Amino acid sequence: MPLLILIRMLAVMLDLSSMARYIGPMNLAAPHFRDDEAARTYFEAIRWPDGRVCPHCGSIGSEYVTKRAGRYRCGAKECRKDFSTTTGTAMESSKVGLSKWLWTFYMMASSKKGISSQQVHRSLGVSKDAAWFMCHRVREAMKAGGLVAPLGGPGKVVEVDETYHGKISEASGQYSKRKRGSTTKRGGSRRIGDKRAIVTLVERGGKSRSFHVAVADLPTVQKIVRENIAKESRLHTDGSGLYTAVGREYAEHAFVDHSKEEYVRYEPTGPVHNNSAESYFSVFKRGMRGVYQHCKEAHLHRYLVEFDFRHNTRTRLGVDDKQRADLALAGAEGKRLTYRRTNEGGHVAR
Ligand SMILES: [Zn+2]
Repeated sequence: MPLLILIRMLAVMLDLSSMARYIGPMNLAAPHFRDDEAARTYFEAIRWPDGRVCPHCGSIGSEYVTKRAGRYRCGAKECRKDFSTTTGTAMESSKVGLSKWLWTFYMMASSKKGISSQQVHRSLGVSKDAAWFMCHRVREAMKAGGLVAPLGGPGKVVEVDETYHGKISEASGQYSKRKRGSTTKRGGSRRIGDKRAIVTLVERGGKSRSFHVAVADLPTVQKIVRENIAKESRLHTDGSGLYTAVGREYAEHAFVDHSKEEYVRYEPTGPVHNNSAESYFSVFKRGMRGVYQHCKEAHLHRYLVEFDFRHNTRTRLGVDDKQRADLALAGAEGKRLTYRRTNEGGHVAR
């Protein structure tokens, strides 16, 4: 991706107010949810706040507008390529109108537990397959792009926890049930077998990062912790042996012993618990059971992206529904998702 586009994306993501080109009540009655022309204007203001950028060569403001609305030709001598409002984004070459896309982004960003593709199919009158693919593309847009800074930092608490959700299907994923079941329990890995394992990291009062893992065992969990949490952080976990060794690498490692019914412990430095991680899992599970119901294992990581995204832009952090939807739209830049890639699994390999 050209550097200019990357810088622009960062600028857009950091400055929420620059997106607010549409002034008026923000609900589903807004014109860009009904009219493709209004949708184009709305999305282009987010994508190109300072004028159109050619997605092929990165040149700014040198395009010719062609006769068809939303189609442009790059004016740079060495380029001259055509592009549209959505070229190089998660919505590229979709036959579904842009206003329907914006509706789907808004609904997925503003519904705490998500919205099913069945619902999108019924509400918008697009085919089931189209709705399903749209929802996955929105999740792709919600994915954090580029380099992501580690969670935590000096004085900050990061909670780590694992959970299990849904049965492993033999057909999906590269690990068979038997292979997982035979994994050693050495190092404190628990309840392995036929359930899908998820590890989540939640900075208290801050952001979350969740991973679908083949097995929540010692090497896997240690790798995730090391790669995603700043060493100056205070680590809070439950009493699992998974965290004992890696915990020593951190400024502090405190844990509550759930097996002894201990859920919060008060210490001079503050309360020790992993309630933030537990509450993340609770929203995730309610959504997965109530809204999504059937999720292939190969797609689990995409749903985690969606729940992480909403958690990381939650109202408590000062982001409202419109801003959250706009952030997801800004993330559509450079996120092409093809059918083949949709079926890739998202295991974190050891
Ligand atoms: Zn160009």
